[in-house]
Amino acid sequence: MRYVSTRGEAPAVDAADALRAGVAPDGGLYMPSALPAFSPGDFSDTPGLGDLAARLLAPFFADSPVESALPTICRDAFDFPCPRVSAGEPGADPIVLELFHGPTGAFKDFGARFLFRAFGAIGQSAGSTSTVLVATSGDTGGAVGCAAEGVTGTRAVILFPAGRISAFQEHQLCCWTSPVQAARIDGDFDACQALVKSAFADPGLRQAHNLTSANSISIGRFLPQMTYWARAALDVFAETGIAPGLVIPTGNLGNAFAAVLARACGLPIGPIVLATNANATLSDWFSTGRYQSRPSIATHANAMDVGAPSNFERLANLSGDQIAGVCLVDDTAIRDRIETCFHETGYIACPHTATALEAWHRLPGPEQQARRWIVGATAHPAKFAETVEPVIGQPVALPPALKAVLDRPVRCQNLRNELADLARLLEGAA
Ligand SMILES: *Cc1c(COP(=O)(O)O)cnc(C)c1O
Repeated sequence: MRYVSTRGEAPAVDAADALRAGVAPDGGLYMPSALPAFSPGDFSDTPGLGDLAARLLAPFFADSPVESALPTICRDAFDFPCPRVSAGEPGADPIVLELFHGPTGAFKDFGARFLFRAFGAIGQSAGSTSTVLVATSGDTGGAVGCAAEGVTGTRAVILFPAGRISAFQEHQLCCWTSPVQAARIDGDFDACQALVKSAFADPGLRQAHNLTSANSISIGRFLPQMTYWARAALDVFAETGIAPGLVIPTGNLGNAFAAVLARACGLPIGPIVLATNANATLSDWFSTGRYQSRPSIATHANAMDVGAPSNFERLANLSGDQIAGVCLVDDTAIRDRIETCFHETGYIACPHTATALEAWHRLPGPEQQARRWIVGATAHPAKFAETVEPVIGQPVALPPALKAVLDRPVRCQNLRNELADLARLLEGAA
């Protein structure tokens, strides 16, 4: 498989080079040059998530150093469950696909665990450490730090916006030991992302530190995320004979783009609806046909506080009508949905999951009834206790994996929003 830039002005590369580079040299994002054509029967003998992932991802890593290790990587990376649960009446209400049973309690564990194992397989040439540089609005950094801890040949530098993430998230970014370094940036998430982009655009820095990306622009992040959408869609399709619709809590479009790609590869996925928080870039685009990025605003669903969704360029590149709807859910509606859902069904949703549940409730009745709908549940509600507990009026118990995170000591640096400061950190932490 070759990967080509969305901007068309960079040479095609193999999967390993696309993984190492992160962004293409022309500033575009790498896209597979051709898509495999699967049919549901191709997965009849892959009951486990890891087996399914290896089958689904094989064409994307063909002729790369990752190819032969793929079955092992997939089995190791996807060694936790992603159950389908019901939040309401079975058969009437949406299916909730819980994507948060990995070690850091968010769906980002799928991509991060795959990515670092793939980096391992690429076998960074001995003696030259590569640096994974990420900006995070919350969960990415935790998953990346956790996936990177103890890995040799790669270090992780994680930038996050000061004061924009929850206390638990901050703890979870700053509790990993070597080779992981967390830095609190004086700015918002878009500023962190811009800082990462300018580091990548600086050839000196890029080379000196072998900079590579683990953001959702990395093919190593979004490709593996196709797996759980494929699994859930295949299972529901087998049960009902109708391709299910998906409602996906969306920030940078990494999770949603994985679903779009899975459908483009022949998986039985029906309409895809995006749920966003009050950041209106995608809903404006959907209603006007014009894409205009904006500054991000802070919301309860803060892992989706994105004004310039980084994977939009991929969506636009794949061709027009991939998305059936975009539903904007503001903070009031998020709180109301968490409350109503809890009182009516006993299910506790995190604020991100609540955007998707609300988006499903806003679908016209005939749409809801035409098929089963799968709502992505992207984080464990205990990670957003500040928002969730006052709304439901009771504490949310931490699962054991997250308790273990809180028992770890933290270390973190403060950084001004300046490339020179980031460069110093890269030197110092080297
Ligand atoms: C990252 C994240 C999202 C948004 O996913 P994208 O791939 O950026 O669209 C939603 N919910 C949670 C909990 C997240 O961590």
